[in-house]
Amino acid sequence: MNPLENFESYHIRKILQELKTIGIDIMGENIPRIIEETSFDRRSQNHPDECPYYKTGKPCVSDVLDFNCFLCACPEFDSKKDEGGCRINHPLGKWHYPYLHSASGRVWDCSDCSIPHFPVYVEQYLIQNLEKLKKMQDEV
Ligand code: SF4
Repeated sequence: MNPLENFESYHIRKILQELKTIGIDIMGENIPRIIEETSFDRRSQNHPDECPYYKTGKPCVSDVLDFNCFLCACPEFDSKKDEGGCRINHPLGKWHYPYLHSASGRVWDCSDCSIPHFPVYVEQYLIQNLEKLKKMQDEV
């Protein structure tokens, strides 16, 4: 696994484990609780060391009501490439140059994209990936 895939894998497993610890199983009826527990505000209180932004009180991207951290590793991000990339080529993402750690000298920069932080996007993702996430939660 490259460092991008490592982060992706770490983040989702950590979130699923946190939910499991407080008795929230991945299932359709729990989606509102999952979204609540993975909000920026809730994770800032309960897991302050998990993100440098938690201690600042402000999320990494502004202008999102009820900012959510479940998909910090955006499912549209192409982590298989060492330069990353966006599978939907979202206009809020951009290439960043120069980047010495990829062969191409560039890396995909999502720092201005708020898409995966909207609760409605997370809800949609959960509905579409419930079985896969449930299986992952059983293994953590
Ligand atoms: S640009 Fe936006 S949608 Fe695309 S991978 Fe980055 S965060 Fe996800």
